[in-house]
Amino acid sequence: MSCCHNPIHCILPPYILDRMAESDDPKVRAIAVAAIARSASLRATRTTLAQMPAMAAIPSAVGKKERLVYDLKNRGSSFLPGTLVRREGGAKSKDPAVNEAYDYSGLTYDFYLKLFNRNSLDDRGMTLISSVHVARKYNNAFWNGEQMAYGDGDGVIFTRFTKSIDVVGHELTHGVVTHTCNLDYKNESGALNEHFADVFGSLIKQWKKKQTAAKADWLIGPDIMAPGAKAKALRTFKDEPAYTGDPYLGDDPQPKHLKDKYTGGDDSGGVHINSGIPNHAFFLVATTIGGNAWDKAGRIWYRTMLALNQKSDFNQMVSMSTQSAATLFGNNSPEHKAVIKAWKTVGF
Ligand SMILES: [Zn+2]
Repeated sequence: MSCCHNPIHCILPPYILDRMAESDDPKVRAIAVAAIARSASLRATRTTLAQMPAMAAIPSAVGKKERLVYDLKNRGSSFLPGTLVRREGGAKSKDPAVNEAYDYSGLTYDFYLKLFNRNSLDDRGMTLISSVHVARKYNNAFWNGEQMAYGDGDGVIFTRFTKSIDVVGHELTHGVVTHTCNLDYKNESGALNEHFADVFGSLIKQWKKKQTAAKADWLIGPDIMAPGAKAKALRTFKDEPAYTGDPYLGDDPQPKHLKDKYTGGDDSGGVHINSGIPNHAFFLVATTIGGNAWDKAGRIWYRTMLALNQKSDFNQMVSMSTQSAATLFGNNSPEHKAVIKAWKTVGF
């Protein structure tokens, strides 16, 4: 079983769904099995989807934010996008999922425009489309190359997936990756694809909350965890597990050092697992430089994302980010040294 092959990018990795499918709780088990089946059918119906999203064909006015939010009313993903419930400038909904999808996709747009002068995911004003209430008790959120889709969660382990800014920012950043380096979604290049989605997902949250690197939680998805889960989040950039012995999720499998890299074939060659290594390096860069992570570390990483290509691996990531730091801040600058040192700490 696997989930989330290109171009479907799910926030929940297959190892979490697999683990939930083995739960002692029959309700959790049934929901997980249904989610896995849905991922498989999604993959089957979407593998023919072209790499370049169809929505790129609907550019909005240059530099103008354009959001559409749809309600799928708990129908399956073959009915995407659903009924249009809020458009750009439209009145607030009574439904928090609609407002979160609207607000956080807008925040993601603002982040890329203000900090990187990037006009939406494709830099051509692509409309940001979100659908909420995907399927029943669906424990996932995904970017399918055209739009965002969010489940409501089962209420036991996960709550609605629009709740975490970093989850929304993560998924939309997959769209930015698609339109820039377009990293292959497998093995090291896939782990880098996941890595950039986590980095900018977290930076969007930090920017919104005006948190310095020292103050940030460096977690992905803390707000989507329901009371049944002991895990504080899906992932953490810090050198500690996001969860251990969780009754539903088990142990966090992410390594934080190259020597612990996962080399098996699950999770498309460990795309959600090995992203822990560059994630931790980014955390070290940002906290070593200090201040707001989006100011310097974010700039270095954005430049790197644009410079990589489909086949880039960890070694290329290391050399390109090091080079980017030198170009932006000078050879032997504190920023340049911070990048070199961080990669060294995680095994490069
Ligand atoms: Zn992802």
